[in-house]
Amino acid sequence: MTKTRPLILFRCAACGLALTHPVRLLDEVIALPSEDGVDLLVEGCCWRDDRPGRTTGRFLLNCKDIVNTRYHDDPRRTNGCCGPSGIDGVNVLCANGHEVATECSDCWTGPHHTELEPNTFIIAELPFSASWRTDTVLSLARVMCESRDFSALPILADALQDAGCDTDIILNYCRGPNPPHVRCWVVDLVLNEEERGAEEQMRARVEVRP
Ligand SMILES: [Zn+2]
Ligand SMILES: [Zn+2]
Repeated sequence: MTKTRPLILFRCAACGLALTHPVRLLDEVIALPSEDGVDLLVEGCCWRDDRPGRTTGRFLLNCKDIVNTRYHDDPRRTNGCCGPSGIDGVNVLCANGHEVATECSDCWTGPHHTELEPNTFIIAELPFSASWRTDTVLSLARVMCESRDFSALPILADALQDAGCDTDIILNYCRGPNPPHVRCWVVDLVLNEEERGAEEQMRARVEVRP
């Protein structure tokens, strides 16, 4: 059995609000894209930016993995033509108004990403008990994984709850309004034997660049 990296979640250090979807930490990212306008990282992962000459302790994520946030009240922080350029300081606040991140998503400032600022977050591991993987839970997850049709996520939430799952982040996500299109982190979490494959796929997509 392969040991997989746990899903982690970033929370605002000031108020505890979840700031990201559950994501997996990548290590040893060999090459990052440098072109304008593309995503720096695929969804579902994060990378600790320890490149020389940069402030250490920053975590980089796909902009779509950031939740419960809004842009800074000061419009000078969000300058840009088609998205904030990220060169005017912290531009993302948690929904309770704490400065937490810098989004770079303009057309000319390199790959799009959001950087969580050092010391503004705490990292929590997402709890998932093996006893929640009942036959019903597993078969629902397998069907969704194979069909890429995630419309049964609310049913999966009920099945998980029947099995004893009380993790709000998982249940609320499954019952939320926007089912994912390609991958679902809850389904991946249930089918943990497939996590390794998913992680390597993500790494390959991050690393293989022309
Ligand atoms: Zn906060
Ligand atoms: Zn632009």
